[in-house]
Amino acid sequence: MLNGKTALITGASRGIGRAIALDMAQNGANIALNHFGEAEEAEAVRELILRENVRCELYECDVADFHASKRMADDVIRDFSRVDILVNNAGIARDNPILRVSEKDYDDVMDVNLKGSFNLMKHLYPAFMKSRAGTIINIASICGLHGWAWQASYAASKGGLIALTKTVAKELAGRGVTCNAIAPGFIATDMTVGLQGDRKETLLASIPLTRAGRPEDVSKLAVFLASDWAAYITGEVIKVDGGLCI
Ligand code: NAP
Repeated sequence: MLNGKTALITGASRGIGRAIALDMAQNGANIALNHFGEAEEAEAVRELILRENVRCELYECDVADFHASKRMADDVIRDFSRVDILVNNAGIARDNPILRVSEKDYDDVMDVNLKGSFNLMKHLYPAFMKSRAGTIINIASICGLHGWAWQASYAASKGGLIALTKTVAKELAGRGVTCNAIAPGFIATDMTVGLQGDRKETLLASIPLTRAGRPEDVSKLAVFLASDWAAYITGEVIKVDGGLCI
């Protein structure tokens, strides 16, 4: 489905980003794999990807850093000559009731989740404009659609990302570039493993499909959105939440 395309995926050392990188590679895409802290885990993902007979290069970068993300965008274009698919997946959460959210936690979450996605879209904008083709996929959240208690900064960042997705979709549509968001619900990854108190059980009990999502539930949709089958879909926000927000 993605033969010969190049995908830059942020935060792909673990969780949902890792699944998207593996799934896109299995579908023929060359992978530019961004990670921040987890060099060993990123290298292990790269080894799995190389078994699919596609290229894979690692890029260590804090996506929240405007200048570092520019350097990464330039390096990826230098190494692969092109980027067809950008997946803004890197994300963090700092759960707390709003009274206990520190300024630093608020800023950190906004910087990685919202500004980090903006950074990559901005830096790769000229390349997408020039190639007159391509796909951007932003990993948002149902929190950005519905709000969520204990997730003020996280929900705000994802709501902003959804607005950014629609804006970029409008700006780049004339150039043949699509931009969509995926809004996962509760997916079993490192991010959700430490949910405090009975929040996890309560959440799980309210999922109509009666289980937590798997990273692969999200990656299948990402592959579809990156494929030519989704060429006429842009500016959409698609939930992958087992029915949680019906
Ligand atoms: P995860 O397992 O905690 O993985 C997060 C990934 O983001 C890691 O690869 C991490 O890289 C990377 N990352 C964090 N800060 C970064 C930075 N400053 N620069 C570059 N990379 C950075 O989380 P996940 O559950 O897979 O989440 C992936 C995305 O899905 C996030 O945007 C999250 O908000 C969204 N999402 C998740 C859920 C869920 O239930 N899990 C639900 C809705 C939305 P290193 O390990 O290398 O630092």
